[in-house]
Amino acid sequence: MEQKKIVLLGSTGSIGTQTLEVAEHLGSVRVLAVAANRNVNLLEQQIRRFHPVLCAVYDESAAKDLRARVQDTDVRVLSGMDGLMEAAVLPAADMVVAAMVGSIGLKPVLAAIQSGKDIALANKETLVTAGSIVMREIADNTVKILPVDSEHSAIFQCLHAIGSKNVGRDMQAGDNAGRGEGAVKRILLTASGGPFYGKDRKELQTVTVEQALRHPNWDMGGKITIDSATLMNKGLEVIEAKWLFGVDPEQIEVVVHRESIVHSMVEFCDNSVIAQMGLPDMKIPIQLALTYPRRLDSVVPAVDFTKYSSLTFGQPDRETFRCLTLAYDALNTGGTMPAAMNAANEVAVEAFLQGRLSFLEVAELVEEAMDAHKAINAPDLDDIFETDRWAREFLLEKHPALG
Ligand code: MG
Repeated sequence: MEQKKIVLLGSTGSIGTQTLEVAEHLGSVRVLAVAANRNVNLLEQQIRRFHPVLCAVYDESAAKDLRARVQDTDVRVLSGMDGLMEAAVLPAADMVVAAMVGSIGLKPVLAAIQSGKDIALANKETLVTAGSIVMREIADNTVKILPVDSEHSAIFQCLHAIGSKNVGRDMQAGDNAGRGEGAVKRILLTASGGPFYGKDRKELQTVTVEQALRHPNWDMGGKITIDSATLMNKGLEVIEAKWLFGVDPEQIEVVVHRESIVHSMVEFCDNSVIAQMGLPDMKIPIQLALTYPRRLDSVVPAVDFTKYSSLTFGQPDRETFRCLTLAYDALNTGGTMPAAMNAANEVAVEAFLQGRLSFLEVAELVEEAMDAHKAINAPDLDDIFETDRWAREFLLEKHPALG
């Protein structure tokens, strides 16, 4: 197999480290650049193991530290947003794996698209905050966007049943060849329900950070694990699905599926449903994004269906887990509202992780910022960045104890 040359943004996080595991397993992936915030211990190990030509460290002083540590190697260590941007457009790379957390991923992803790189997208905030802009750039630059999020990888795979090859571009272009008009009726986005499934608001008043970080099925980073507990993660995924697959919000239904074996489903106009299944392990969707359209053997074991006496499906509790409702509201309002919601959520989750906010207050803060935000229609990139900045400042001004 021909070698694929990748840039890995967010290499020290959960998706980043699993991407490197997959790269090592495949043997046909060359990691040309890695980028991370400030985990220099892990970055040094990654540099010595994968020999990237470039390493971008967001934090300036961490970059300085790393530069001293890897003086004996050939790697160039860059810092700040400039460093991230240079990694994102590295001329020799075919693909950028966007695995950083938060809206910080937007600029480098757009730069990568504009320089003709295919994108393996794990950074959902990129599409949540600037979906229309990102999808337009994907189409204009004729690059591919391959979803890494397990649900979106699942939907992408289900859509292959009707011959849809390119996410977004294909769907939005209205290319219905072989599919019939309006072939896709609904996307059934599965949700594990998180660690607090079944709890009521009274019980949620006293839950701790440690409890919220204990996800029943998935092993993920801190931010996304909290988002899973509040159901904001599912809300972000609904918005991500809207942009990736060009469907309307009312065509996306969240279905609680506690076992996390069905990673999502697509219902077609003839009421036939196709589901994608597998063990809950991100290395499957990561590998497919790297090898697409090929499928190669995986380090992840097969599902033993005899171990599951039942697979269950139910409705999410949108009253208790307000964040999912807020995300639908943001999507329906459109414009800059999802960017405001996302920034408020980033602030709130960070404060919750640091013990400065209770679990239920996360949704309250997000709603407060959304209520105060006047959404700008058809926003450009500056409107998105300004909204992100505004929402953070608004919350920190109203709640000084958060900062
Ligand atoms: Mg997911």
